[in-house]
Amino acid sequence: AKSQGKNRYVVYTSELLEDMMEEYSLEADLRKAMDHEEFVLHYQPQFNNATGELIGFEALIRWQHPTLGLLSPAKFIKLAEKNGLITQIGEWVINEACSQNKKWQDAGMEPVKIAVNLSTQQFLTRDLVKFIERVLKRTELDPQYLVVEITEYMAMEYDYSLSVLEQLKALGICISIDDFGTGYSSLNYLKDFPIDYIKIDKSFVNEIMNDHNDAVIVKAIITLAHNLNLQVIAEGVETADQLNFLKEYLCDVTQGYFFSKPLPAQEIEQKYLAWQSN
Ligand code: C2E
Ligand code: CA
Ligand code: CA
Ligand code: CA
Repeated sequence: AKSQGKNRYVVYTSELLEDMMEEYSLEADLRKAMDHEEFVLHYQPQFNNATGELIGFEALIRWQHPTLGLLSPAKFIKLAEKNGLITQIGEWVINEACSQNKKWQDAGMEPVKIAVNLSTQQFLTRDLVKFIERVLKRTELDPQYLVVEITEYMAMEYDYSLSVLEQLKALGICISIDDFGTGYSSLNYLKDFPIDYIKIDKSFVNEIMNDHNDAVIVKAIITLAHNLNLQVIAEGVETADQLNFLKEYLCDVTQGYFFSKPLPAQEIEQKYLAWQSN
């Protein structure tokens, strides 16, 4: 047992070293990724549960790495948060999402909303509001078609967050609380923050058909949100049963693999965008 323990230790340290090396080279690559235009946005459609209508997309970043292939955000967002690159990456995301959305509208597509994820660091950046205002002005996108997704962590800096959100709201954009119910914050902010949507995290949606507690939580979130005049988006919906459950309890919007994975812009155009009818 002793020698096994020792072996395990050796394995552990070499793995650790490997992880560190990997992170080091990934970090160097990440610094170049912006200039080399290696980031792309994929878009996942969201549908109105009552009408079946497409209401918009969530923009989700991917990194087309020169040798490792297409990397999911799980592979690099934490690293980008650690070394501060996240602000620059996040600005690219806002800019790209707004430009793309405006391009679609200019081409005569039925207008839809695009939601972008804001990292905590980016949210706390002093000139976030100014930046978004500039992007909206430059792209000429009508602000109602931009949604920012923030997490409950951002409610920790209560007064600061409230003032940022009020400024964002004044620009005319929509605000969504992402991963609702998974953070550590109190529910206080729900009564003060100018929020439009609550997104039920997929960890709750996952088990609604099998776990009574998850079902109860989801129902309670929907009731709570509706009583506060907020709309509810369920993410991670993978089955018809889950969709029917959510419809039955009047969840407003659905997003998930049941309808579609996040897709590149070109595929979105082919599969989901409709020409405006007039
Ligand atoms: P999130 O904001 O909670 O996004 C939902 C994640 O669930 C996405 O993973 C999406 O592809 C995935 N998903 C959607 N439908 C289903 C489903 O039916 N089943 C399952 N199992 N998963 C589903 P993705 O794209 O890998 O993104 C992971 C996380 O990375 C996001 O979680 C978000 O926190 C972060 N992220 C993505 N794009 C950005 C970005 O541009 N900026 C920042 N700061 N974070 C981002
Ligand atoms: Ca999100
Ligand atoms: Ca998230
Ligand atoms: Ca989530």
